[in-house]
Amino acid sequence: MEHRTVVIIGSGPAGLTAAVYCARADLAPLVLEGAQPGGQLTITTEIENFPGFPEGISGSRLTEEIRRQAVRFGAECRFETVMDVNLLVRPFRLSTDQSRYTADALIIATGASARSLGLESEIRFRGAGVSACATCDGFFFKGLDVAVVGGGDTALEEAIFLTRFATKVTVIHRRDELRASKIMQERAKRNPKIEFLWNSVIEEVCGTEENGIRRLTHVRIRNVQTGETGTLHVSGLFIAIGHTPNTRLFGGQLDLDDQGYIRTIGKSSRTSVDGVFACGDVQDSVYRQAVTAAGSGCMAAIDAERWLSEFLDR
Ligand code: NDP
Repeated sequence: MEHRTVVIIGSGPAGLTAAVYCARADLAPLVLEGAQPGGQLTITTEIENFPGFPEGISGSRLTEEIRRQAVRFGAECRFETVMDVNLLVRPFRLSTDQSRYTADALIIATGASARSLGLESEIRFRGAGVSACATCDGFFFKGLDVAVVGGGDTALEEAIFLTRFATKVTVIHRRDELRASKIMQERAKRNPKIEFLWNSVIEEVCGTEENGIRRLTHVRIRNVQTGETGTLHVSGLFIAIGHTPNTRLFGGQLDLDDQGYIRTIGKSSRTSVDGVFACGDVQDSVYRQAVTAAGSGCMAAIDAERWLSEFLDR
């Protein structure tokens, strides 16, 4: 059993930024990177809205650079996945797929996962037309037709945002009634660039592949009431069927909201357990941006450092 002052779970922009700040505070943090090092950033296309990179930067490169920055100041990153935590004992206990640790303070940055349709072809065209974030990728679809799947606020918000770039945005929804708030429904229905395809589901995502470069060209749709199938020609497909926060490890130990996100206290990153801090998408269902995640990672590190200086003095 190895003891650490601070353990950070997760290696997206939140976890790695927390590592930079903890390392610079001389806390020698250990980052347990998890099953998808870099988190959701690694499945987006080019990132053009992270300040400081006017030419854009790929998600994996951004992750590498923040990791390098953290390591430079004394953070240690291990490619281990946390399987179990015990927040009821002091120091906290963690088991990974390879080791066991104790920690005085814990920063949770396990993120959220965009729900997927569960189609093999959807995975194949991820980053090649299929996206889960209009704010990140919408710009690439200037003058093209795109579709959004989902009937909630996110789907309509993404559809409205995409009309800035796309020629036409088709919202594909599995029912004939939207789940989104009335105001968003009205806004979307008023927008001349938005069309709705009701009672419809996607059966397959299709495209071309030349010299290893994939490009989405159309989707196969099925009407769930009539069984009729058809083709919709689009260059982009935005999946907006909700996110699931990665909080399975903490159920019953930390206060979660009704959607499963970790509740933080006031404007801080503190959670319901003293010494446990949360940052990034695991506690944010609203902004979900790399830069806001990074900002909250900084907050968690500062909160942890302050808490530790009191705790270790006791
Ligand atoms: P929601 O859970 O509200 O909506 C998900 C949508 O995706 C539903 O319409 C659902 O259909 C559909 N869906 C789910 N699974 C599938 C599937 N496998 N295949 C096809 N369709 C599917 O998620 P959101 O991300 O939209 O919103 C999450 C929360 O965030 C909500 O509380 C929302 O109000 C809030 N939010 C608020 C915003 C704002 O105020 N500006 C902006 C964005 C989000 P069905 O309806 O049939 O279940």
